[in-house]
Amino acid sequence: MIFSEKHELVRKLARDFAEKELTKEILDEIEATGQYPEELLKKLAKAGFFGIKTPKEYGGQGSDYLSYVIVMEELARISAVTTIWVSAPNSLGGGPLMLAGTPEQLEKYLKPIATGEKKLAFGLTEPGAGSDAGGTKTTAVKDGDYYILNGRKAFITMAPVADWTIIYAKTDKTAKGSRGISAFIMDMKLPGVSVGKAEDKMGIIGCPTSDIIMEDVRVHKSDLLGEEGVGFKNAMKTLDIGRIGVAAMSVGVAQGCLDEAVKYAKERKQFGRRIADFQAISFMLADMATKLQAAKELVYRAAQLKDINSPEAGMAASMAKYYATEICNELAGKAVQIHGGYGFIKDYRVERMYRDCRVFTIFEGTSQVQQMVISGQLLK
Ligand SMILES: Cc1cc2nc3c(=O)[nH]c(=O)nc-3n(C[C@H](O)[C@H](O)[C@H](O)COP(=O)(O)OP(=O)(O)OC[C@H]3O[C@@H](n4cnc5c(N)ncnc54)[C@H](O)[C@@H]3O)c2cc1C
Repeated sequence: MIFSEKHELVRKLARDFAEKELTKEILDEIEATGQYPEELLKKLAKAGFFGIKTPKEYGGQGSDYLSYVIVMEELARISAVTTIWVSAPNSLGGGPLMLAGTPEQLEKYLKPIATGEKKLAFGLTEPGAGSDAGGTKTTAVKDGDYYILNGRKAFITMAPVADWTIIYAKTDKTAKGSRGISAFIMDMKLPGVSVGKAEDKMGIIGCPTSDIIMEDVRVHKSDLLGEEGVGFKNAMKTLDIGRIGVAAMSVGVAQGCLDEAVKYAKERKQFGRRIADFQAISFMLADMATKLQAAKELVYRAAQLKDINSPEAGMAASMAKYYATEICNELAGKAVQIHGGYGFIKDYRVERMYRDCRVFTIFEGTSQVQQMVISGQLLK
């Protein structure tokens, strides 16, 4: 794809930021401590990355989806975990608000997350409701001006540090399947809210993930997001688009893997020659570059379709996520292979990228869920 000057500038800004701020020392420190530096979060906020798509009146940049995917791609090329922090306010946190928030809710919640003052998590998954998210067991029972929430959410990104979480809960227990689910903006400091221990994850270390437990939590009716009973639609629309973000992270990590593999193949000598001179290696690199380019085109197309509000945007996002996350894992595996034993050692960037991208085919709808969405559209 040929980019406009504006989008080339966005890429340059994001790339410069990533290369200057996401240094090896900082990334190693994040891995060692599991903590993402507050200072770095402030820099991301100052660069405007937390509100890329958020309208200017709510503290954001008012940019388009294509700008968002370019930023995600450039940051992920160096640090996948950084894109998890950036994705939350732009996608799974900000998304439901932008879809259904009242002007008061946007002022109160969207503005501070777009400027990085507050953190908003997205609470859909439950221990028994993952791919089948409509099987939500969390309940919200009306009691005067309040709803009383009870239940447990699982794997919630940022839960231990979030100020608020969007919670999807069943308000109509008689409604079957995914019907009767409503969305709430829940203050994490309310009595009855607690979080489980931060999960000990394989990758994307430095952004905590945990359960959220709700025991008789009283959420005021002003924090109902959208109409009662249509929360599941809100969640699905959010994920429809959020998937473009994960697809963008994937092409970023895949690009990082390809860069490292090419560099290493030119440096490493065996049998008296550069390993790049062996056709087995150079053809592997050719395959990697070709698949990566195909994935990029799918991602940019999905973003552009979303920018024009095309009805094809949802399916395009699923195709982009499905393909980009799968080839990212394939490329990461090949990049490790090209590094030989060194690829298995933490001193080499490909080791972390290999672990970081493993979750991409899982969260925000597994590859199998994307296949269900795509085939469902084809066969309807
Ligand atoms: C690091 C991390 C962060 C996350 N962050 C969040 C978050 O912020 N908010 C949130 O709500 N959730 C979050 N999740 C949850 C994530 O979205 C779920 O893990 C994901 O949707 C899969 O659900 P599951 O783990 O229960 O797997 P399951 O749904 O149990 O799936 C297990 C396997 O069965 C397959 N499968 C299931 N149903 C079908 C079917 N009908 N046909 C074919 N195959 C099927 C799946 O593809 C998968 O391979 C996060 C998860 C992780 C690991």
